[in-house]
Amino acid sequence: MAIRQIRVDDDEILRKRCKPVKEMTPRIQELIDDMFETMYENNGVGLAAPQVGVLKRIVVIDLSTDDNEEEPYCLINPELVFEEGEQEGEEGCLSVPGKAAKVVRPNHVIVKALNEDMEEIEVEGFELLARALCHELDHLDGIMYTDLMEPGTLHKVEQE
Ligand SMILES: [Zn+2]
Repeated sequence: MAIRQIRVDDDEILRKRCKPVKEMTPRIQELIDDMFETMYENNGVGLAAPQVGVLKRIVVIDLSTDDNEEEPYCLINPELVFEEGEQEGEEGCLSVPGKAAKVVRPNHVIVKALNEDMEEIEVEGFELLARALCHELDHLDGIMYTDLMEPGTLHKVEQE
């Protein structure tokens, strides 16, 4: 496994549409392992493949904290199939270092995807998980949270 370099700010790869994954290969498995390692190393809760410069429809999410263990997700070719409600909250991104802003997202979503064994799965998320799913899925279509943020709410945050 290896930590990959995170693409930031106006890197144009972040604005491209990613391609679906057709089959699991050792290269893609390695990419997924590296994405988890890169996310953990940078204290992120989610990471999409274009953020490490690979235009494939893969995201990883892990909302675990020191006192709350959550299931890590690897989602391949994810699709939003249901959304409901609204939540407003602070959002940040490893590709927009040192900043955060307020973004309105659905409060409840269901995402269909393939897991690392290329089996169909469905992930239902409320609140923070719903936000993370929307944020990471947007990356696969070149959308950044800064496109959706409420005007005037972008601010600096302390970096870890
Ligand atoms: Zn992001």
